[in-house]
Amino acid sequence: MSPRIVIVGAGPGGMATAIRLAGQGYQVEIFEAVDRPGGRMRGFSLGDYHFDTGPTILQVPRVYDELFSSAGLRFSDYVTLIRLDPNTRIRFWDGEYLDLTSNIAAFKAQLARFDPALPAEFERWYIEHIRKNVVGYEPYLGTPVRSPLGYLKPREIAAALAFRPWESLYDHFKRFFRDERVVYALSYQAKYLGMHPTACSSVFSLVTFLEFADGIWHPRGGFRALAAGLAKAATDLGVVIHYNSPVKQVLVEEGRACGVELVGGERIKADAVVVNADFGHALTHIIPPHARGTYTDQKLNSMEFSCSTFMLYLGVNRRWDHLPHHQLYLSANIRRNDPLWAKSAVLDEDDPSFYVCNPTIVDPTNAPPGHSTLFVLVPVPNLRYPVDWAAVEQRYRDLIIRQMAKLGFEDVERHIVVERRYTAETWRDEHHTYLGAVFNLIHSWSQLGPFRPHIRHNGARNLYWIGGAVHPGSGLMTILEAAKSAVHFIGEDLPLHQTTAVAH
Ligand SMILES: Cc1cc2nc3c(=O)[nH]c(=O)nc-3n(C[C@H](O)[C@H](O)[C@H](O)COP(=O)(O)OP(=O)(O)OC[C@H]3O[C@@H](n4cnc5c(N)ncnc54)[C@H](O)[C@@H]3O)c2cc1C
Repeated sequence: MSPRIVIVGAGPGGMATAIRLAGQGYQVEIFEAVDRPGGRMRGFSLGDYHFDTGPTILQVPRVYDELFSSAGLRFSDYVTLIRLDPNTRIRFWDGEYLDLTSNIAAFKAQLARFDPALPAEFERWYIEHIRKNVVGYEPYLGTPVRSPLGYLKPREIAAALAFRPWESLYDHFKRFFRDERVVYALSYQAKYLGMHPTACSSVFSLVTFLEFADGIWHPRGGFRALAAGLAKAATDLGVVIHYNSPVKQVLVEEGRACGVELVGGERIKADAVVVNADFGHALTHIIPPHARGTYTDQKLNSMEFSCSTFMLYLGVNRRWDHLPHHQLYLSANIRRNDPLWAKSAVLDEDDPSFYVCNPTIVDPTNAPPGHSTLFVLVPVPNLRYPVDWAAVEQRYRDLIIRQMAKLGFEDVERHIVVERRYTAETWRDEHHTYLGAVFNLIHSWSQLGPFRPHIRHNGARNLYWIGGAVHPGSGLMTILEAAKSAVHFIGEDLPLHQTTAVAH
């Protein structure tokens, strides 16, 4: 009989791992705390308004195709992707804007309006990234990490050096572009990683490139539909997903994970356990103290976590068809890089940068006819830094509603029909996200590649991590790559032909 694997959590990482394992013939069960799949992207409804909660930007569709085809399925049978153009509109502190787009000629024409030298600077950057993608994507993002020595091969390291991976994302773009607006426009992806571009490794300029090269996509029906598609694919492959089944504890005996105990008291045996629950939360709640390995409280306190986000989910009685799907306002404060600001350790109550998603223009079913939903995201400090949310929340919400006019959403207050807010505390309490740090561990040099927590847990055998905490990091595309690595390690430790220890 094939090994039996239990996965804790039906987030994107948990479901991608389940699809790959089941596709190979493993027996897989997922235990999910809440009533639906998707984790941070599970979404919710307020009456007739349907909202995505977390991801709104889908990059590199081929990783989804590859995930499904690895299990003999076709992604397009489960999820329909819509290509967006422009990718994102970036509005700057001076009122100017740039539409990032995969139409390179159109993008260069916009740049030329800023400064005639910019199109050539962009071309130099783009051509370098065609090579960087070849040299960097597979070895860096698509390879299982074991140890500093067993990770990249010497020739891969030599090839990467030409791209100065030690630079910050900000320094990287500054080397190519004189105009600081362009530097910030092209490095805004650092915010996906919950970081300021001056603190984020330039390795992630690949993400900027991939958005130009492959575009930005939206799943029809929203990211809730992507979550449902992943869950359906897993189920079609024989995976059993138990909803409303929170895991109380991972069972570890004689140094080996051997199952889980549910909050209801039931014990489920397994040959291996994969934890998709948030890393910091799981360590402090469901991994027994004797099996935490090197991740003691002291170690956890020394690790750096991403910012959190303040969210507004608004159902409004009008549409903004003339505004793009994705818009980002970059305030002048983005240029402040003193340590506390760069770490997102202070709440910007003056002129915060923020992002608005206007999905109804391509996905009208998420609101009643003529109405729409808006998703507003503001990076804010995680709960390691003191913000009295009970005192600040209303004031902050009012500020953001006023700020929305900067992106063309005039007079929003008058149009709101339904509204929900999330603070860092909501992410902690309702999504079990450690410190409310929604983008998990930051991607600083000391927490990258082999220096990130390993997929194979170091406190117990047959216990694995999947999600934003492990290499290559936070974000759907990277987590899907990590799932490939997780299955690689499980395959090494529990090959399919091996007789299993569990009495089924
Ligand atoms: C506001 C926001 C915007 C984002 N934007 C983007 C974007 O545009 N593009 C992008 O690629 N990424 C984006 N991300 C990041 C992306 O959402 C995350 O990287 C991804 O969801 C993390 O997936 P995961 O597999 O690690 O698990 P999670 O999504 O964290 O899911 C973990 C699951 O484990 C379950 N769980 C926890 N504890 C238990 C327990 N004890 N028992 C059983 N189940 C448990 C949870 O209920 C949850 O379902 C965004 C995130 C946020 C929050």
